[in-house]
Order: sequence, then C-alpha cells, then structure tokens
Amino acid sequence: TITLAIETSCDETSCAILRDGREILSNIISSQIEIHREFGGVVPEVASRKHIENINIIIQQALDEANINFHDIDLVGVTQGPGLVGALLVGISTAKAIAYAIDKPIVGVNHIEGHICANYIDHKDLEPPFTCLVVSGGHTYLVQAKSYTEYELVGRTRDDAAGEAFDKVARALGLSYPGGPLIDELSKKGDKYAIDFPRVYLEQDSYDFSFSGLKTAVLNYLNQKRQKNEDIIIEDVAASFQQSVIEVLVEKTIKLAKERKSDKIVMAGGVAANEGLRSLMNYRGKEEGIKILYPSRILCTDNAAMIGSAAYFHYMEGDISNLYLNVEPNLELKG
Ligand code: ATP
Ligand code: MG
Ligand code: FE
Repeated sequence: TITLAIETSCDETSCAILRDGREILSNIISSQIEIHREFGGVVPEVASRKHIENINIIIQQALDEANINFHDIDLVGVTQGPGLVGALLVGISTAKAIAYAIDKPIVGVNHIEGHICANYIDHKDLEPPFTCLVVSGGHTYLVQAKSYTEYELVGRTRDDAAGEAFDKVARALGLSYPGGPLIDELSKKGDKYAIDFPRVYLEQDSYDFSFSGLKTAVLNYLNQKRQKNEDIIIEDVAASFQQSVIEVLVEKTIKLAKERKSDKIVMAGGVAANEGLRSLMNYRGKEEGIKILYPSRILCTDNAAMIGSAAYFHYMEGDISNLYLNVEPNLELKG
C-alpha cells in the first residue's frame, strides 16, 4: 500500500510517501519557524497563508523524491486535528481534492496518534500494547496503546503542555522560539540541582500533570534575581527547570508501565527529542527492566510520515473517511 500523507496542523507544511505504514519513500518538511520567530510564536493567519503557498510544491517534491506519480497512490492520509483550524483546512482540502481526482480512499488522522505512530516507522518490530508518553508543543498525554488504532488516555496535563512550558521558560530566559531545543542544549552545561524548583506530582494516584506552577516558580526566581541585581546563571536555570519537568514525566510513565505490566515504554512528540528526558527514561527503564523507545529526532516533531503511518493502520482495519471529512481543531484521542 502506497500512502500519500499531508500534515498542516501548525507551522510545518509536510508531505510524505510511505510503503505499508512503516517505510518512508519521502518525507518533505517545510518549516515556517523562521517566519514565526519574529513574533515569538506561531501566528495562525500567517501559518495558513504559508501552507497555501507551499503545499503544492511540497507534494510535488514528495512524489519526485519517492519517484512515483499520483496514479501509484493507493491511499491518502491527512491530519484532521487537533491543530489550527485555518492551517488544517489547507491540508484537508488538498487531500480531498487528490483523493477525488485519483478515486482512492482518504483517512483523516488524529495528529497526536500520528506522533505515536512515528515509532512504528523507526522501530520495525514494535507492536502494541505499550505504555506511551506523548509530550508535544500542545499536549501532554499518558496513554496505554491497546492496538494500532485504540488508546486509553490515562493522564493528561491540567494546564500547560510540556513543550509549552519549555517554550515559555525559554522566552523568560530571553531565548528565541521554539525554546525547547535551546533549553536542552543549555542544560548540558548547567547544574541540574543548582536550584530546587518544585516537582508537581498532584494527588497520590493521579497520572495527570501540571506545569504552570513550575513555570511560575522559574519566573519568580528570575524576577527576584533581577530585582536584587544578582547574576543569573542561565545554564543552571535551564538545567534545574528541565530536571523538574523530566523527573515527573519519567516517574509517572514508569509507574503506569509497572501497573499495566508493560514491557515497553514509547515516547512521542517534540519533547521526546529532549536528551535529558531520553537519558533519564533510559536509565530508569534499565533499572526496571522496561524497554525504552522513541523516534529519531526528525520524526519527533511535526512531519507527514507519521500521519501516513497512522492512516495506514486505520485503512487496514477498514476505518476510512469520505469526502465529507472536515477539520476538528479539538479532536481527542479515541479509546
Ligand atoms: P501538538 O503536537 O501538541 O499539536 P506541536 O505540533 O506544536 O504541538 P511538536 O511538533 O510535537 O508540537 O513539538 C514542538 C515542541 O517540542 C515545541 O514546544 C518545542 O519547544 C519542543 N521541543 C522540540 N525539541 C525539543 C527538545 N530537544 N527539548 C525540549 N523540547 C523540545
Ligand atoms: Mg511546529
Ligand atoms: Fe505536533
């Protein structure tokens, strides 16, 4: 099965060609980061316009690189949500036009499920069930993957997403957007135990997360230092903040894996690229005898290949959409 997949939920215009949901023939990603950086974050209207300008070019590049044409495609996959409504509309309209023109099925994909499915591409033997930590720019989910298409949502953030917390703290440190990767780099040069920021575990048996209190603690720390005209060691702030986030993420994920007797933990989303998170999860996984998996860095952040993988697994179960498919900006992960 040859799948053409399109992703336009936020600020990446991406098109990929996949074989059988696990093999990438091409995966073209055009990032708008440089354009949005000047505003300190993604401007929705600008994102939509850029998607329109780029999408046909990106699709042609994906076909060329895979060395196929429209008539070789068996399936069209596209991100349906969650995401920015105007940005999603560009991808969905284009995908529907292609599916109609070549008379092939279309599958609307949950973007977060796509992030999880990125792992099927990089780990050819990976099969459900597994415990999954999804940490992206807009979502923080603890999930038990029951099959290739069914998920039990066990925990979620009650306020900021993990990536959002990284980006907001980075901004307070005067770093550019997106700040997650920059905090990751700075942390390597800092002392992660220099500042005792809070670890928020919530109620004893809760698998939910909360990062806004930690963000406030970092802002208060910076304000106090600035008021007293004291030096701020930015590497130490970055490393201490990052440690607070990842300790909670790792301990809750390990706890769920043990409770569900999972022999593997899978990570997904942009923050899964974080080296501190990867190494602490690997360390704890080794201690507990749990295998730890995550996608290559390029498949952690937004890309169409992961959408193609998710579309393929739904297609294999006969779960296909039709040309009435519409965007769902607040789409939830399905149980
Ligand atoms: P969502 O998937 O929830 O709709 P999104 O698509 O914007 O949100 P992703 O593309 O998954 O999010 O990831 C982007 C986020 O990942 C940003 O918040 C970014 O700062 C963060 N991120 C990327 N690399 C790293 C890293 N090495 N360390 C920490 N955070 C990172
Ligand atoms: Mg992005
Ligand atoms: Fe994403």
